[in-house]
Amino acid sequence: MSVIVEHLTRQFTQGGTPAVSDVSFQAPSGAITTLLGPSGAGKSTLLRIIAGLELPDAGRVLIEGVDCTNMPVQQRGIGVVFQSYALFKHMTVRKNLAFGLETRRLPRAEVEARVDEMLKLVQLEELGERYPGQLSGGQRQRVAFARALAIRPKLLLLDEPFGALDSRVRVELREWLQSLHERTGVTTLLVTHDQEEALEISQHVVVLSEGRVAQEGPPEEIYDRPATPFVASFVGGTSVLRGQVQSGRARVGSLVVEAPQSAREGETVQAFVRPHDIKLVKPAQGAEEPTASLVKRLKPVGGYVKVLLKLPTGESMAVEVPRSEFDNLGVVEGDLVHADVRMAKVFVGDYVI
Ligand code: ADP
Repeated sequence: MSVIVEHLTRQFTQGGTPAVSDVSFQAPSGAITTLLGPSGAGKSTLLRIIAGLELPDAGRVLIEGVDCTNMPVQQRGIGVVFQSYALFKHMTVRKNLAFGLETRRLPRAEVEARVDEMLKLVQLEELGERYPGQLSGGQRQRVAFARALAIRPKLLLLDEPFGALDSRVRVELREWLQSLHERTGVTTLLVTHDQEEALEISQHVVVLSEGRVAQEGPPEEIYDRPATPFVASFVGGTSVLRGQVQSGRARVGSLVVEAPQSAREGETVQAFVRPHDIKLVKPAQGAEEPTASLVKRLKPVGGYVKVLLKLPTGESMAVEVPRSEFDNLGVVEGDLVHADVRMAKVFVGDYVI
């Protein structure tokens, strides 16, 4: 394990809730690990502690087995990329890349060679003589990556690196980052609130909520087996339905789904259902349909159709149906449909998310 974080706690205000509270996790060597959570979950504070920009009140940070908790930033061998590009405006791209190397007193020829290598790595060979103001947002962020990697860091820390870019460039840079990582293999910690980004880019995900680790594991595990109602609702954009355990199964309104093994008869349950995990079936013509749901609203959005259902219980549920499937289904607003929610994640209890 390249980065090990043990029982980190950081409280900014006395008597207040800690920004980071007893956080422990391990980031595998050579992998991209994401710290994923909503705004205020403590992600940036954790990253700043690992970078050495912030001291914890308690706990330790080990990088490649060395306790770095009290080590100055410059000695940690870490490259950092923030959301804002933080490039020197009055320096060319080349000078920006050379700056950190010169302060490390590398020989001139070596600095030049390293700058060339980095420009090639981030595919900006042609733009070395430009100033940051003459680059697009995506290009500037690639320079920021080059600058962070130029010092050959043991660890790359990325704090919402694509947060300031528009969505098309963000998606492009996600792919770019994956290919960059394949070429460098540098152990990377990425902070994001974007679950899609986390699931796509990383090999390991640490989900944070209110300064604590809610779940840690490979992205597929986080998505398929959320450990808590918070993770289930945060990862996947779900509808929440309330119900009870009856005859060993979770009865949620008119819908019946698998109950957790620990559930006891009569207990309250909550089912978390993802919009694209729901299958809609049109009822047979003329049949009595007390368990069917009403199609309240239909809205085509690109490749799929957003369907808002009103369940017999009065609860609302959002469904996303691929365009072709929707065309075959042939429903209009005001129709009744059956909603198959077998993929629901069910938790015992009544949580407020
Ligand atoms: P995230 O990166 O997940 O959005 P942060 O780590 O930035 O979360 O913040 C976690 C909590 O700590 C928030 O409630 C934030 O207001 C608080 N916080 C962060 N930095 C400071 C600071 N320097 N002083 C006081 N409170 C802070």
